[in-house]
Amino acid sequence: MQDEYLDFVSTYIESISETLRSISLKIHDNPELNFKEFIAHETLTKFMNTRKGWKVTPSAYRIKTAFIAVYDSGKKGPVISFNAEYDALTGIGHACGHNLIAIASVGAALAAGAAISKFNLPGKVILFGTPAEEGGGGKIALLNAGAYSDHGVDINLISHPGKVKDSALVRTNAYVNTKIEYFGKEAHAAAAPWEGINALDALITAYNALSVLRQQTMPGDIIQGHITDGGAAPNIIHAYAAGIFVVRATSKKRLEVLKAKVDKCFEAGAEATGAKLQMTHIMGYDDHVPNKAMGRVCRAVMNKLGSNIPTEHLDLIEGATQASTDQGNISYAMPSLSPGFRIESVEGPHNPGFAEAARTREAHDVALRVGKALAVTGLEVLSDEDLLKAVKEEFEEMLKEH
Ligand SMILES: [Zn+2]
Ligand SMILES: [Zn+2]
Repeated sequence: MQDEYLDFVSTYIESISETLRSISLKIHDNPELNFKEFIAHETLTKFMNTRKGWKVTPSAYRIKTAFIAVYDSGKKGPVISFNAEYDALTGIGHACGHNLIAIASVGAALAAGAAISKFNLPGKVILFGTPAEEGGGGKIALLNAGAYSDHGVDINLISHPGKVKDSALVRTNAYVNTKIEYFGKEAHAAAAPWEGINALDALITAYNALSVLRQQTMPGDIIQGHITDGGAAPNIIHAYAAGIFVVRATSKKRLEVLKAKVDKCFEAGAEATGAKLQMTHIMGYDDHVPNKAMGRVCRAVMNKLGSNIPTEHLDLIEGATQASTDQGNISYAMPSLSPGFRIESVEGPHNPGFAEAARTREAHDVALRVGKALAVTGLEVLSDEDLLKAVKEEFEEMLKEH
């Protein structure tokens, strides 16, 4: 069926290309941050409401800028879903190209819905509007609220632009972000320093311990931090010091091991100085584990449309990035795929140059190509029982390994 689906989906997505372009530009020209994507939310929900057969829930699960749109065939069957991101970055606009992610997923969902009707298929197509990817964990909020489980979602698909080669099997790092605080005691730093407890010394001791730890870490392990509070004045023993530290690793499992070692360094600072340590979890994302069975379909379609994605083994290596995404948490809750697509850009993501690149007509065309591949991947999973079984078996195996 792949070719028939692809023909239909391509024609469908091309027919709404200009509308998708105007949505993409509207989002791009109005960059909005974590959970404040009001213009994007309104633009997308309004548009989805105009599409026949789609039932739209704005501000889903009491998350103001999240939404859910459902296309139901009326016949019991698999539930395929797509995530749309639309948040921007502080000061540099859509430098992660989430406007393109949004239209690729919207196009894919609509095309899949239309195909269900055309080919008389059972099941449902769901589009999730997922805010706050840039550190806010919008998808985690939706997962925890039950948005995916309530809808009985079988698989989830999304994509991401970049400046490197196309990849069907993008893997990302797991990360955890922690606030570190030390509480000491003030004293006159010259007249009676022995009466004080130096919280900054605790933090510096921990920082140095981390620097030593870095010599024994594994490839892919990353530890970075900054000091947000370094005491009040040089003539007062510092009663308070604080910092934010980010730890990353190639998998959730490895992150647990590394984080335990990092925590020991913070405890060492407290032990050495007598300051009281407080660690507060801020946010963390799991690594993204791509589903290879879905990747095979997606790769075949993307290559038909002009990509040159290598074989699975090589794609898995080339598709690894040290960046993180909350799609990682999705990949531990259900089979997930997040192909990466290359847009023409001198600069990479999180640079203003990439924001410019994400606005071009060329980037739009590439995003729609990926939308077509996502739609066909979803439709194959929806209509091929054996494929859905293989996708799920692989997912279960992955959970055991991880
Ligand atoms: Zn980003
Ligand atoms: Zn991004």
